[in-house]
Amino acid sequence: MRILVLGGGVVGVASAWYLARAGHEVTVVDRQPGAALETSFANGGQISVSYAEPWANPGAPLKILKWLAHDDAPLLFRPRLDWRQWRWGLTFLLECLPSRTRHNTIQCLNLALYSRDCLKALREDTGIAYDQLERGILQYYTDPAEFARGVDAAELMRTYGCDRDVKTPDECVAIEPALAQCRHRLAGGIFTATDESGDAQRFTTELAQMAAAEGVAFAWSTEIQALSPGGDAIDGVRIVRDGERFDTLAADAYVMALGSYSPFLLSPLDVPCNVYPAKGYSATIDIGEHRGAPTVSLTDYDWKIVLTRLGQRLRIAGTAELNGWDRSLNRTRCEALTARTFELFPDAGDRDSARYWTGLRPATPSNAPLIGRTRYRNLFLNTGHGTLGWTMACGSARALVDVVAGRKPGVDFGFTHA
Ligand SMILES: Cc1cc2nc3c(=O)[nH]c(=O)nc-3n(C[C@H](O)[C@H](O)[C@H](O)COP(=O)(O)OP(=O)(O)OC[C@H]3O[C@@H](n4cnc5c(N)ncnc54)[C@H](O)[C@@H]3O)c2cc1C
Repeated sequence: MRILVLGGGVVGVASAWYLARAGHEVTVVDRQPGAALETSFANGGQISVSYAEPWANPGAPLKILKWLAHDDAPLLFRPRLDWRQWRWGLTFLLECLPSRTRHNTIQCLNLALYSRDCLKALREDTGIAYDQLERGILQYYTDPAEFARGVDAAELMRTYGCDRDVKTPDECVAIEPALAQCRHRLAGGIFTATDESGDAQRFTTELAQMAAAEGVAFAWSTEIQALSPGGDAIDGVRIVRDGERFDTLAADAYVMALGSYSPFLLSPLDVPCNVYPAKGYSATIDIGEHRGAPTVSLTDYDWKIVLTRLGQRLRIAGTAELNGWDRSLNRTRCEALTARTFELFPDAGDRDSARYWTGLRPATPSNAPLIGRTRYRNLFLNTGHGTLGWTMACGSARALVDVVAGRKPGVDFGFTHA
């Protein structure tokens, strides 16, 4: 089949790769001049299968209320006159019910586990390199009360098949010696040895090159304006190249992988897509001659930030702001990332080298992405991966190939329109 993949982020490029491998003739369309230049550009770098719990949990509403007035809060809801934001917020509240949280956790965990296996297989198959490290993820706590809650949560996650080991402060330092710099602040940690990390942007650009060698075509600098329906199918995609040349592209099938922008193209078609952007920040610093940068990927639970080693760089990422599609940098939120990092790891790197960035996580209220069919027989979804798009990209794309072929995917997950 001739397939148009709409979107050249990590999810779109992975979709193109697996579809091409399955024998399809694939073209990727994206408004940027290359791969992974929007949300997949500078994320936290974690393949965090074992931390796949959704934001929506019974404790979330109270925390969010408490954080409303704090500009540096980890999760900040900025109320707007936007029905999309309110619809998302109300559904998020429903997803905080204990039964929904349990269901969503299992869904995300299943897909994340499957995805990690797909990523490993892809690595073995192609030798793709992207500053990856297979040294696990250590979640550390500086607040003893939060740590006690974390120990209970780890127990629960173990019952779902996650290998989360509770560690004392000294054991944390033994796993990641850089934590010796803040040993006196640690309450404990939870370690998952099987988790990984790596640079999502480098992965995506490398994979795009490999896909091109397999025959995938890339239409960069091409804005998608609308999908044209015809009866029960999509007839074509209206585009504009380089801002001036209007055209229509047609194919046998279409994959929606436009991340946070997917709802704009799907609403006119009446295809449900409750995706809202959750803006996040990252800082990338050069390590240089400094000796105190961690190599094991870390999650600072109390500040909800991650620290990931990417070669000679340290990526610090986190915070979430529900405030529409605005990507401007808020100085307070940027500096909160580096301040916390250098407070705990004074010798982590060259502070003045910090490059700040924002990206819009395509979040669904449940945290589970939208993958599968739609009411149009040739339109498929692969979007809404929120906090876990890098973790879930390969598995989502691999499963999509089965959905397109009309086969049952090899993962227990609630696909759309199944
Ligand atoms: C601060 C931060 C930290 C994160 N940390 C992690 C992490 O540690 N682990 C993890 O698993 N995930 C993490 N994520 C989430 C992850 O980065 C995202 O889920 C993932 O990048 C989404 O990929 P995507 O391909 O769906 O979207 P994108 O990368 O945004 O790709 C969508 C593409 O669509 C294109 N596009 C949009 N509209 C149009 C249009 N009209 N016409 C043409 N092209 C269009 C864009 O140019 C873009 O290239 C983090 C995110 C953020 C912001």
